[in-house]
Amino acid sequence: MLRDELKSLLDADDSDSAEARVVRVLSERGAVSANEIARATGLARSTISQALAELRGARVIVETPAAEIGRGVGRPAASFALNPRAGTCIGLHLSLDDIRLVAADVSHSVIFEKTVPLGRDYAPAAAVEAARHSLRAACREAGIAWAGVIGVGLSFSGPVAPDGRVQRASIIPTWAGVNLREVFEPALEKPIFADNESNCSAIAEMTWGAAAGVEDFVLFKIDIGVGGAIVSGGRVLSGVAGAGGEFGHMTLDPHGDLCRCGNRGCLELTASLNPAIAAASRFAGREVGVDEFVERAAQGDAGFRRLLADTAEVAGRGLGMIGAILNPGLILIGGRAALAGEALLAPLIASYERHTLIKREEAPPAQRVRIEIAKYPTNHALLGAVALVLRRHGRLSAPVGVAEALP
Ligand SMILES: [Zn+2]
Repeated sequence: MLRDELKSLLDADDSDSAEARVVRVLSERGAVSANEIARATGLARSTISQALAELRGARVIVETPAAEIGRGVGRPAASFALNPRAGTCIGLHLSLDDIRLVAADVSHSVIFEKTVPLGRDYAPAAAVEAARHSLRAACREAGIAWAGVIGVGLSFSGPVAPDGRVQRASIIPTWAGVNLREVFEPALEKPIFADNESNCSAIAEMTWGAAAGVEDFVLFKIDIGVGGAIVSGGRVLSGVAGAGGEFGHMTLDPHGDLCRCGNRGCLELTASLNPAIAAASRFAGREVGVDEFVERAAQGDAGFRRLLADTAEVAGRGLGMIGAILNPGLILIGGRAALAGEALLAPLIASYERHTLIKREEAPPAQRVRIEIAKYPTNHALLGAVALVLRRHGRLSAPVGVAEALP
């Protein structure tokens, strides 16, 4: 039926058929116009028209009024999307003390969002049970048949190996060595796509955010840690063990302080918000939280702004190293520091400029790096987890096809 049709088209990885290519574009981008499909596939307009007509006839795609499309994720007006009835994708973010869930249909419309508090250092079994229970309940409430769920994307705060195993250097120690796929798949009975938080953020940015339509960019996150992701040719470079883009753990000073990763002098120790928060708290004579710090710096508090500029100076040096390796055209800044906007961006760009090889005035405008605030600086890992399923990115080493999700 409808789902089988979609399944065979989504699974047709090697298929060059115009229908399969159109379906993949719609799955990755949500609702798009025929023009956008032409740009993305390079197919002739007449071929696209024919494919669209066939897909509409098979009810795999729908033509939709602009207002219906992508609500909740800000997708602009467009005219074709996958038929929402063809399937639901679940995103699940495992954070420090809770799990967050979101469901979206294949046309990219968000159906529900939910947070389940679990407390610090929660055990994997507790998270799996909570996810199973909450997801089934939320789906029932929203009128979604579990059989219609085509996959679950998992976003995790730490490196995830290609086989789904959580590496030691995560912020949740109880998860070290746990294979996300092995623990979630039997309980949820769905294909599991897992990746780390920053990679998911990058996927959200390229699906709905500031990197939409950009094939090559770098995401750099400044929060209580420093993280990032490298996207090349539209794919996240996760690396052989899932540690690609872990910018926070570049060694700046081999004799520096000990990092949580076990090495010394990592970029994260000086370029995260932690040193600024500690200095702000000492100055204020009380504990200053990240949100208060960022807000006051953004509003122009001279001392806090100076501390944030110091952070930006070190972070810009780190970005300079990334620039020396990749020379990216677009660098998106995420994490809570990004909420300070210009107060962060101006000193960060100045520092990058000081530490980069090719200076702005030497390059024509089209060859200058753009350093911008991400569209979803703080809430994108969850959206990215959904997009993992939509893009079928983060496929685990022994691929589990959509076929297994659809009886
Ligand atoms: Zn480190």
